[in-house]
Parts: sequence; C-alpha cells; structure tokens
Amino acid sequence: MNSMNNASTALLYSAQEPTAAQRKRFADFLARTYPGQALTLEWKEDASLAGGFRLEVGPDIYDWSLQGRMQQLRQRIEALDNSDNVLPLMRQAIEDWAPSTKPEEMGTVLTVGDEIATIAGLEDAVYGEVLVFSNGIKGMVQELRPGQLCCVLFGDSSGIEAGDQVRRTGKIAGVPVGEGFLGRVVDALGSPIDGAGPIQADAYYPVERPAPGIIDRQPVNQPMETGLLAIDALFPIGRGQRELIIGDRQTGKTAVALDTILNQKGKNVVCIYVAIGQKASSVALLAENLRRRGAMDYCIIVNASASDSASLQYIAPYAGTSIGEYFMHQGRDVLIVYDDLSKHAIAYRALSLLLERSPGREAYPGDVFYLHSRLLERSAHLSDEKGGGSMTALPIIETQAGDVSAYIPTNVISITDGQLFLESSLFFSGQRPAVNVGLSVSRVGGDAQTKAMKKAAGAMRLDLAQYREMEVFTQFSSDLDDATKRQLTYGQGLMRLLRQKQYSPLSQHEQVITLVAALNHVLQDIPVEQISGAQRQMLDWFAEQDAALCQRIDSTGLLTEDDRQQILSLARTFVAQYQKKGQ
Ligand code: ATP
Ligand code: MG
Repeated sequence: MNSMNNASTALLYSAQEPTAAQRKRFADFLARTYPGQALTLEWKEDASLAGGFRLEVGPDIYDWSLQGRMQQLRQRIEALDNSDNVLPLMRQAIEDWAPSTKPEEMGTVLTVGDEIATIAGLEDAVYGEVLVFSNGIKGMVQELRPGQLCCVLFGDSSGIEAGDQVRRTGKIAGVPVGEGFLGRVVDALGSPIDGAGPIQADAYYPVERPAPGIIDRQPVNQPMETGLLAIDALFPIGRGQRELIIGDRQTGKTAVALDTILNQKGKNVVCIYVAIGQKASSVALLAENLRRRGAMDYCIIVNASASDSASLQYIAPYAGTSIGEYFMHQGRDVLIVYDDLSKHAIAYRALSLLLERSPGREAYPGDVFYLHSRLLERSAHLSDEKGGGSMTALPIIETQAGDVSAYIPTNVISITDGQLFLESSLFFSGQRPAVNVGLSVSRVGGDAQTKAMKKAAGAMRLDLAQYREMEVFTQFSSDLDDATKRQLTYGQGLMRLLRQKQYSPLSQHEQVITLVAALNHVLQDIPVEQISGAQRQMLDWFAEQDAALCQRIDSTGLLTEDDRQQILSLARTFVAQYQKKGQ
C-alpha cells in the first residue's frame, strides 16, 4: 500500500533509546509495511514523547506514543454528537477504542507570502479544514485547486518556507465555546487575550455552521430594549431580529450598540461584541468601560484588530456567532454586535485578491453578498421545541459621506430587518443619538414592542413627520400664527426628548411616562432648552410619588387606562410645580 514511498531512512523518535529487541521489532514492521524498500532505521531523541515511539517514513507518521494515543482518544470523544446525553456515548467510545497506527497525511508548502500559502500533497483536505505547519502556525483551507490547495494563515508567515511540511488535522476551523467565556476578551480563534488565564471550554464549534431552518424558528415577539427612547419608541427591536446600524464615521454607531449592551444589565442576556479591524486601544477602552459599569460579566469580546491578519478579521464574526449559538441553543437570549462589517468586507476582499479570485464591483469578489448573508441568517428566534433561545444581531456599517447606495451598504440593508440611519449633520447639531427619523426603519420589531410602549408611543411617528414637514414649509416665513408656532415648539420638544446622553439608558416605565406626558402636550409649555432637565426631574419625582405604578409598568408591560390617567395627572402636577419654581 505504501509502494509510492521513496524515502530511504525511517526516523524513530522516543524519549529513551530503544533496546536491541525493540529495534528489531521496528525493522520487521518496516520490512512488512514497505516490502522491497531497503529502509534504514535511525533513532532520534524526543523528550516530549511520554512513553512509546513515533516512526516517520517520508510523509507517513506512525504514532505509538502515549501522547499520540491520548490524542486519538480525545478526537474520538470530541467527534461525539454532544447534543444528546454524552455519558453513555462516551463510555461506548472508550470501550470501542482500539489504538490504531494510521499514517497522518502530510503535505509540502509550495509557495508562501502575504498570509497565503499554497500546498501540494493534501489530496483529501476539505474546505475550511485546519492545517498545521511545521513551526506550529495554523492555517485554514480556503481554496481547492487541482493538485494543490490554498490556505490562509492565522499567524505570521515569515516562519514558513517553501518545502516545509504541513499536517492535516481533520478538524474544520472552529472555536471553543462555553460558559467560561463570559467576562472574557478572546481573539478570533477563541484564545484569551485579556491575560486572565486559560478558559475552560464546554464544546468546540466550527466557525461556519448552518443557520436554523424555517421550522426551527418562530416569529420575533419579545422586545430587545435598547434603553434609547429614539429607538425603543420609534424603531423597536425584537429578540432574534437583525437591525443594521449605519452611518458615517464618528456618528455614534458604537455608542448605540454599547448603550444597548449596558441596558441588558440584569436581564439575563448574553452580549457579544465582535470588533473587526479596529485599533486594539479602542477595544481595550471599550472593555474597560464595560468592566467599570459592571457589565463585563455578561459580555464576551471577540477581537480581531487592525494589526491582526486579514484571515483572522475574516473569521472573527463567524467565531463570535458560534460562541453565541452555544448560549442560544441552551434557550438563552444573546445580543451580538459586529463592529463593523465594512471592515470585514475589506478584509475578505484583501484575502480574495491574494487568492487571485476575480474582482467584481468595487473590487469585491462575487460572493461578498453571501459573506454577510450566511452570517446574519444565523441570528434567529428559535422555536419552543428548540428551547426558545434567540440571537439578536446589530451589525454596523460605515458609510462614506452618507452614501447608502454603495455596494456593501446596499447588500447589508437588504439582508437585515431594518436599519438605524445615523447622520453626521444631526450628530454635530447636538441631536444624539443621531438617528434620522425619516430614513430609519424596523420591519419586525413592532410585534415585539410591549403593549405599554405601543400604546404610549402610538402617535409619535406621525407627529414627528408632521413636524418635519411643517419645519421645511415654514423655514422662510417670519410671521407665523400661534397655532403653527405651538405646533413647531411641540415638534422641537419631541426632538429634544429623543436626545439622550451616553450611558444613561431609560427603563421601560421611564420611557412610557415620558411619552404619555409629551404626546399629550403636557410638557408643551416647558421651554425647549429646559426640556431634558425637566424630563429627568419629572422621572425622579414619579419614582418618589408612585413607585408602584413604575414597577407595575416594568413587570407587566401593560398600560391600563387608569395608569395612563394617573401618569397624566401626576405629570400635570409636576409641570405646574416646575413652572412655579421657575418664576
Ligand atoms: P467610528 O466611525 O470611529 O467607529 P462611531 O460612529 O462608532 O465612530 P462613536 O465612537 O460611538 O462613533 O461616537 C463618537 C463620539 O461621540 C464618541 O466620543 C462618543 O463618546 C460620542 N457620543 C456618541 N453618542 C453620544 C451621545 N448620545 N451623547 C454624547 N456623546 C456621544
Ligand atoms: Mg465605532
């Protein structure tokens, strides 16, 4: 069977020198396995082998060492389908296990450079498989061609040379997953990079996994509250939804995602922040911010920074999603932020050009749409039979000069269930979060809004639309009648209420009270520039006056007519007192 082998020396590795009898046994083995080839046996010391021998004949490796056998057993156990009860399966695997000595497949590096290596001799390797180079660097098969394959490298290519050996692992590129990841910062391969020691993994998931099918899903029907009034009232997001955050640079995109994460405190939601192509220092700052605000223990940060290889940046969002799926399949709710997918597409374009794939529009390869669609399809609200868990995705896209019609923005807009469009001009005019109320949309979240929020926010969108129209209409006219002036200040007041400082999420009852008071014109007579301060005072006053009401709205998600009337009467009393104080 090994007649193709043309090596003349067989290398025998072990910690201790073999005895004459052992040498004789290996010589016999060689004569049997490679008949007709005069192979000389040469011994080399390898202290890392804990008992036993390893024999290398050209590309064939026979592993009789304890280490090799344990490795085989570990692979058997890892291959078990761990969705079922693993104990009986594990027992069976151990009973069935007989150490075998099959040659490992080795290949040779043909060319290497720029994060890519071409390899000959690994005929059976499959797409996505992990390969290990002789210096320990790992790579992933990314393209199969006749007689050779292309592999992207997950590390520095300078230690690899043409002619080096490459070993198949038989494993598809994946990440370890588990509870232990909560509170940690990891790289795209799931290794900790926060200096807080190793992470105990519960399972190993491939980075690319199929999205849940239609039967396994249920409609989005529970809210994923962001704590931002501009979003929860107008563009509500539901658990399992994919809502794009899109805008130019420095328009508060990350801030919206970060506030949403902070708002999940105490709500039993696992938050994953995937940083792609950012400065390592910005990610460190964000992690520190989360830690300081006591949010890190339900967060996981996956970081592939700008200085990491394009291949790591390429797999980071998939790896983060796999880590999230582990929690989703346990029936938990997950929120995942991809910051940002523009840089992800750029990393993929760099890889594709190095792999000599033909460039298409904006030099992106033809399958760049699939790059993001297969990622975002993995967000879902699972059916009750599948545990009812969910994964909500907030992908971020950076636009150039507000151009949403560029290639990548249009792609991602068409894959997601809505977009929050952040605008520079609003941001600089002080309207933060800079959500453009006219262009943003949330296509499925309305069903997920609580009854209380739906009832309270009812007419807001219409009122704002009227205000915007009137604003344009009256821009150049100086003498306005009183009714129009009132209409304008009412609209301005609403826009002011949508402003919200960073790190100050509003709970559900605070949003409901604000909306009921504002949309019923109770706050109408407070000067626009005082309205934010007055809002805060009013909410604190409500908490003192009727804590039961606040608590009731939060826990039931309902707004009864009695409660609505109570809010109106308390709000009127507050405004009267506020105005008296001001005089
Ligand atoms: P980049 O394109 O660099 O990733 P970005 O769009 O993610 O930027 P952020 O980093 O979130 O923008 O925000 C830019 C700046 O604006 C930050 O300094 C942030 O603190 C500030 N900022 C964002 N939102 C608000 C807000 N609601 N109130 C006050 N300041 C804010
Ligand atoms: Mg950002």
